[in-house]
Amino acid sequence: MDSKHVHRDTLMIHTGHDPHEHHDSLAMPLYQTSTYVFPDAATGAARFAGEQEGNIYSRLTNPTVRALEERITALEKGEGALAFGSGMAAVSAVLTYATRAGDHILATRGIYGCTFGLLAIMNDKYNITHDLIRMWTEEEIEAAVKPETKVIYIETPVNPTMEIADLQAAVNVARRHGLTVIVDNTFSSPYIQNPLELGADFVLHSATKYINGHGDVIAGLLIGADAEKITELRMTVQKDYGGIISPFDAWLLLRGLKTLAVRMERHTANAGRVIEYLKSEPMVREVHYPYDADHPQAPIARRQMSAGGGIFSFTIDGGLREAQEFMDSLSLIKIAVSLGDAESLIQHPWTMTHSGVPEEDRAAMGISDGLLRFSAGLEHPDDLIADLQAAFASMKKHAAAPAGE
Ligand SMILES: *Cc1c(COP(=O)(O)O)cnc(C)c1O
Repeated sequence: MDSKHVHRDTLMIHTGHDPHEHHDSLAMPLYQTSTYVFPDAATGAARFAGEQEGNIYSRLTNPTVRALEERITALEKGEGALAFGSGMAAVSAVLTYATRAGDHILATRGIYGCTFGLLAIMNDKYNITHDLIRMWTEEEIEAAVKPETKVIYIETPVNPTMEIADLQAAVNVARRHGLTVIVDNTFSSPYIQNPLELGADFVLHSATKYINGHGDVIAGLLIGADAEKITELRMTVQKDYGGIISPFDAWLLLRGLKTLAVRMERHTANAGRVIEYLKSEPMVREVHYPYDADHPQAPIARRQMSAGGGIFSFTIDGGLREAQEFMDSLSLIKIAVSLGDAESLIQHPWTMTHSGVPEEDRAAMGISDGLLRFSAGLEHPDDLIADLQAAFASMKKHAAAPAGE
């Protein structure tokens, strides 16, 4: 199959697996093995010497994992990929690979909490410093570059404010200064946004989210624009730090990926329907969604994303108490962090995902105590709206009740 001319919808079903190489099995088999048997001593020696292709040990290669890596490489239009045991294992591997002591990292403000934690560790232990900035324009990125800057690390849309970083602007600045651009593409999935095509060097995913899509795996994927760098990563940081994926989780991700296109279309459609309803609800103050006409960076979002995706946030009238009461009044929609699952999930960044961010930083980022993040699932949209309507109705009844009741 010529992956350059086949649509992503098709690649996500077929790439990386030839049934006739695996006893004609339609599904990629699960190679649940730790090690591989060399037919003779000379073959073992040749594989270790790198003179012969072949499996040695599953921390290095595994056929099920390799199929997943080939599939995600095709979807992101990269030259190679590595699978990890979590999204954070992918983040820590690529940041370790791309920096050394004394370097500086420019990252989008509002990055994922554990990535923020990792930057703090790198700062404390290896004197790798960072600045968290807005990346709305080329000028503001350019102005933040220091002589020791080596990496631009981007999340877009940013959680939970759905702020957009301009990928093309970041790539332009990086080209001028010889920097490595790394993009965490978890919120969009490869179906909606493809940063390698815009010139990024690495893209990563918490495959826990949309790529698996079923809320039952923790995993990460890293895709590179340069095959040699991916091989070097495989044989150094990934091999020696060891944060690999299990063959079974890779097998589940291969299964999940087959439906990514249809899932992303439904997630996006459901988000649209729910947002339309929320905008008509008097207790909702504002909605943040990249494709919304009111979003301050909607033109950038429309340039680099093919759809708005399934995640948005909104603020409700009041603050902490109202936000908590609202969540507790829902029944179909589940209170949980994570995103991209079949189930619609709601969470409260102020007390959950962003509770560790200093209060003044939260304010600067636009995270208030009335903000809620919503990951639209795959349920019928009318049922989601009915659940939200019932929750607002119960709050209004409660608010109207005489004091003391
Ligand atoms: C969940 C998430 C991560 C971390 O991934 P894990 O699979 O939980 O380790 C990183 N970045 C983003 C944007 C995420 O949502």
